[in-house]
Amino acid sequence: MHYVSTRAASPAASQSPHSFSDILLGGLAADGGLFLPAEYPQVTGAELDAWRKLSYADLAFEILRKFATDIPEADLRALAAKTYTPEVYRNARHDESALAITPLRVLEDSNGKKLVLQALSNGPTLAFKDMAMQLLGNLFEYALAKQDAQLNIFGATSGDTGSAAEYAMRGKKGIRVFMLSPHKKMSAFQTAQMFSLQDPNIFNIAVEGVFDDCQDMVKAVSNDLEFKARQKIGTVNSINWARVVAQVVYYFRGYLAATTSNEQKVSFTVPSGNFGNICAGHIARMMGLPIDKLVAATNENDVLDEFFRTGVYRVRKSSETYHTSSPSMDISKASNFERFVYDLVGRDAARTRALFQKVETHGGFDLSGKPGSDGDEFKLVANYGFKSGKSTHEDRLATIRDVADDYGIVIDTHTADGIKVAREQVEEGVPMIVLETALAAKFNETILDALGEDAERPAGFENIEALPQRFVVMPADVEKMKAYIAANTGL
Ligand SMILES: *Cc1c(COP(=O)(O)O)cnc(C)c1O
Repeated sequence: MHYVSTRAASPAASQSPHSFSDILLGGLAADGGLFLPAEYPQVTGAELDAWRKLSYADLAFEILRKFATDIPEADLRALAAKTYTPEVYRNARHDESALAITPLRVLEDSNGKKLVLQALSNGPTLAFKDMAMQLLGNLFEYALAKQDAQLNIFGATSGDTGSAAEYAMRGKKGIRVFMLSPHKKMSAFQTAQMFSLQDPNIFNIAVEGVFDDCQDMVKAVSNDLEFKARQKIGTVNSINWARVVAQVVYYFRGYLAATTSNEQKVSFTVPSGNFGNICAGHIARMMGLPIDKLVAATNENDVLDEFFRTGVYRVRKSSETYHTSSPSMDISKASNFERFVYDLVGRDAARTRALFQKVETHGGFDLSGKPGSDGDEFKLVANYGFKSGKSTHEDRLATIRDVADDYGIVIDTHTADGIKVAREQVEEGVPMIVLETALAAKFNETILDALGEDAERPAGFENIEALPQRFVVMPADVEKMKAYIAANTGL
């Protein structure tokens, strides 16, 4: 298995084929594209049958081995077994279901319409990003040990990604994490989750500024190539290929748990922002998993919904990006979307490059096929099963209330966006699985608004705000930041 860039001229790609390990620690390809397998591995009916009985860790191994062909199978199996344990994924509301890692729960089954919730937020930070990030931590440690190398992860967060990265990398040999966050701008719970980590390889840096200032500093440091190389700076952002692959696993798990034979189909609704989660669903479908529809649910930041309704991809300016009550989906452009578009345009790298260059120069592109558009591939979207919908703050509150009244469970705001849209898209005879992307405790302010009472906190999180915190406060000054990093890496 080798990997190509979505923007590569094909001769160059074949001259230097990339293995899984080559792209594991990196981000973008050198040409600015994203990596994808040269072709998608296929699953057979016999494999699906055999996989029905597997534990989550064994299923993860079976899928990973199709993508990470350059890692010895025994090592890969051990990495999956170490990652997907009931100890790591222990925050399920019900103990027995925690053993299933991503348990399903049927919410509704009436008139042939079935709505199912798949729990993906039982990991240490109570959000689905743990599903991939925990594996990434173990893969990174493994790869670095082999090369006797070290990696200093440098990133910015407004909440979920930073904490998932820190909990995945804490205590890992060869790895340090430098995570910027806007000083006093995260929720008390999110701040406590990150800052209460006492591991010496985790560096929390509260920047006197807003999230954009943090991101600008990450860009400035990354653009200093000499500094970046000397300090061995890397990232763990959502375009990382290993993160996408790790997410493919739970689509298989959801399908296998919801069906009894491979003749059956299911659909998924996915609360979406950067298109990383649903991109994994697209890959599972391309591998032959019998998925009918893949429904992208957005909040008020509806870049993706607009594309799947009209064929127009129009990224938003920061001034047009809303701060919503499902903040992890507040994105102005979907960084993994290029992977799908590459497939949609028939894996034509030159076209993909031109389209995404147009995103930079003109803020988007149009595949509607209308006069003056950039192409007519929108008509092919249905072949890939994609649908979409949008949910607003009012929808979110109403859905949280409905779900609490009807099924007796409290869902988080992002999952509420998913359920709102899933209800519009569910069809008779095809179970609709909604991916739960976070636990309600993370977004308690909105739960309180919707229900008039606090969300339940999983055991161990009761007094998290009272724990001692370890962080430094720094001005938004790139030179001071570089000096701080250098002082703490000793490089
Ligand atoms: C990151 C995140 C999302 C969006 O996932 P993408 O992969 O960016 O589409 C949705 N919900 C929660 C809770 C998240 O943390």
